[in-house]
Amino acid sequence: MYNKFFSHIYVERQALEYETTGLILKKFKNSEIIYIDHYKDVFSRKHQDFMHQKNCQSIILAVNNEKSVYKGAPVCQSFGNEHFYYCSNIKNCIFDCEYCYLQGMYTSANIVIYVNIEDIFKEVDSIAEKHPVYLCISYDTDLIALDGITGFLAKWNDYVCKRKNITIELRTKCGYSSFIENFSNYINDNMIFAWTLSPDFVINRYEHKTAQLKQRLKAVNYVINNGGRIHLCFDPLIYCEDFEQVYGEMFKEVFSAIDSTKVEGVSIGTFRISKAYLKNMRKNRVSAVTYYPYECHNGVYEYGDEINSKMLGFAREKIEEYISADIIFEGN
Ligand code: SF4
Repeated sequence: MYNKFFSHIYVERQALEYETTGLILKKFKNSEIIYIDHYKDVFSRKHQDFMHQKNCQSIILAVNNEKSVYKGAPVCQSFGNEHFYYCSNIKNCIFDCEYCYLQGMYTSANIVIYVNIEDIFKEVDSIAEKHPVYLCISYDTDLIALDGITGFLAKWNDYVCKRKNITIELRTKCGYSSFIENFSNYINDNMIFAWTLSPDFVINRYEHKTAQLKQRLKAVNYVINNGGRIHLCFDPLIYCEDFEQVYGEMFKEVFSAIDSTKVEGVSIGTFRISKAYLKNMRKNRVSAVTYYPYECHNGVYEYGDEINSKMLGFAREKIEEYISADIIFEGN
């Protein structure tokens, strides 16, 4: 029998000075509050059980005293942007995708929320003094899914609306109802919503607690109909025997549901993961996606050239029926 989700909230003593801490704690009046000196004392302990924690996640409110904004790695989806950055407001996610790298990267499934978001804004401002910035703000989490707790999206919206040379991208697997509840007021030109889309077969098997494809598409349409900007991410593509049928039907469903002329960019990529992360993921979870016999190239596990080119070639061919080739970006 597990504790309820968020039955325990760990709070760094230095986080108590921040407004966000008070606002979040107000939402958890029945949770037990445990005061700590440093979030890593709880979050980075060895011998934690990631999967058990995933069933009863706690929140850790912390102050990030280190750098928060990073230049995107070459394997990241930059959508052709030269000055591509990402930042992490939050570590870990309330969704539970079996292929998620977070379960290989962290020893804990508890959710760290950095309450000093204003320091990230200052860091982004100093980069934007030199050149335009394209910033992904939903890395290492699904920010929209957690917005009911954090309220960060209103802050990001206020921040970015006043800055001409900053564009932020929010990647999500949320559906229409969570989107409307948390985000419908924040559609503007500085904000791009990037929906990860998968066939329901993959969602039901591997992307636990995320929205079904129809719900994601309903949210995409809402953004489009309200003048918002959209990217679609078919990444990771997960190999299965009847890949062409499963993904072929999905592409048909996606592009018959939405107006493809309104899509600004599409990313495609097959599943890939670092050797070290996969080793940890296999310890944490027995899953067809973690135990697939991947090939290791330069420290990265992937399907191998034959399957990769078959999947990417197929996806590209289908997507190009609706989307111009010059806005389709490959992540491999
Ligand atoms: S939605 Fe993204 S961050 Fe969340 S569990 Fe799935 S892959 Fe990980």
